[in-house]
Amino acid sequence: MLYVSTRGHCTPIPSAGAILQGLAPDGGLYVPASFPFMSLDEIASLSAMPYAQRAAHVMGKFLTDFSADELSAFTMKAYYHFDDPDVAPLRKVNNDGLWSLELFHGPTLAFKDMALQMLPHLMSASLSKTGQTQEVFILVATSGDTGKAAMEGFADVPCTRCAVFYPKDGVSPLQKKQMETQMGGNVHVIAVEGNFDDAQTGVKHLFQSESFKNEMAAQGRMLSSANSMNWGRLVPQIVYYFSAYASLVQNNEIALGEKINFVVPTGNFGNILAGYYAKRMGLPVGKLICASNANHILTDFIKTGVYDRNRAFHKTISPSMDILISSNLERLLYALCEQQPEIVRSWMAQLTGEGRYDIGAYTQLLQQIMEAGWCSDEEALCTIKRLQKEHGYLSDPHTAVAFAVHDAYQKETGDMNKTVVVSTASPYKFPENVAHALEMDDSKQDAFVLSKRLQEQTGMRVPQSIWALEHAPVMHSASCKREDMANALIAVLAQV
Ligand SMILES: *Cc1c(COP(=O)(O)O)cnc(C)c1O
Repeated sequence: MLYVSTRGHCTPIPSAGAILQGLAPDGGLYVPASFPFMSLDEIASLSAMPYAQRAAHVMGKFLTDFSADELSAFTMKAYYHFDDPDVAPLRKVNNDGLWSLELFHGPTLAFKDMALQMLPHLMSASLSKTGQTQEVFILVATSGDTGKAAMEGFADVPCTRCAVFYPKDGVSPLQKKQMETQMGGNVHVIAVEGNFDDAQTGVKHLFQSESFKNEMAAQGRMLSSANSMNWGRLVPQIVYYFSAYASLVQNNEIALGEKINFVVPTGNFGNILAGYYAKRMGLPVGKLICASNANHILTDFIKTGVYDRNRAFHKTISPSMDILISSNLERLLYALCEQQPEIVRSWMAQLTGEGRYDIGAYTQLLQQIMEAGWCSDEEALCTIKRLQKEHGYLSDPHTAVAFAVHDAYQKETGDMNKTVVVSTASPYKFPENVAHALEMDDSKQDAFVLSKRLQEQTGMRVPQSIWALEHAPVMHSASCKREDMANALIAVLAQV
């Protein structure tokens, strides 16, 4: 199978090349030239497999330049570290057909692990497939979750290296601790004196700096990126939609062929896009429901067909969804206009120029696939409390947005399809907000004390990786001014 750019100006290439490059050279995103199909019987056959095998099977449909043996070996390694034997377990929330698909059982407690535990193996193998002899050097600017997940994935993977820049005072204490205690001989962490935008702009400059790239090339390193524009991050996410469906069939919760809805807490649009691709491959999906917080640019787009980023940015209690430019939306646009790159180019040019575009008559098509809704921080907090009280289910603030949106959607439409809420983070990653939602009176305690209290109150076990952090030694203490990121990185590399 070959991959083409959404902007139409690249020669089609196999998946290994698309994964190594990340972004297409014409500024577009790589997408498969056609979509594989999975019959209902093939979907049902996943039921008998453990998660790693389900993943190798579904990914094999897209990554045809990788052998079945390679993919099985990679998925075994990638999903071995998860703290639940099902890897992505489904929990029944109520008896009216509502489940939570928990994607937070990986080492960093957020759904980014589903893809970032897998991507490094794909990258490392892609190097040899394309005949490259250099090391892939991943640069990441993070506002908290992605940097840790990337390092945890790349740690000690052969022929790869990963450096993360985070804003010195811009991440939570727990996130900071997660990063500075990271193990692995090929990972580096540098705190930037500035905010997330400074770190992100600095990384972009490194990618554009000829002198920095030459210096890295002289050291045998090629720069690449692990953000969700990379096809290698998207393909492992298609798997869990199939896996959830297969498990529901296996447990006689649904009939084979019955349509179900998915509700997805959305930011950069990678997760829900993977759900759309699963639907295109034949998975019986009714509606994909896109859930947003106060930054509800996607809700407005899905309801009106107008994408308009000329609006205020809100800081919320679901920070991983605080985003106004959802990069992966470009891939859905390409599918909506039936693979016409000139249409995508014109919309993207309007977005760059005026910060706005209108998909006009394509809106109806979009609305056949997706529904959307948003909720405020207040509503998310109330939802955490309600879920705990009524169903004994503890939710993190991102997932709570999806539950709130689902509740409103069902009341408004009367759509009683069985529904899976895609759960993107462990509540123990945000103990302060969760304790606040449950009106525990000790919200001034540190994250470890709060976690212990939450466990006592709710019975939900604190993940081992939280306790491991409490006494983990600090491995990384480098910091730099924002204009000094290249030198700081070169200094850190000199110690390797
Ligand atoms: C990254 C993230 C999201 C947003 O996912 P997208 O694929 O960017 O839409 C939602 N919740 C959590 C906890 C995340 O880390």
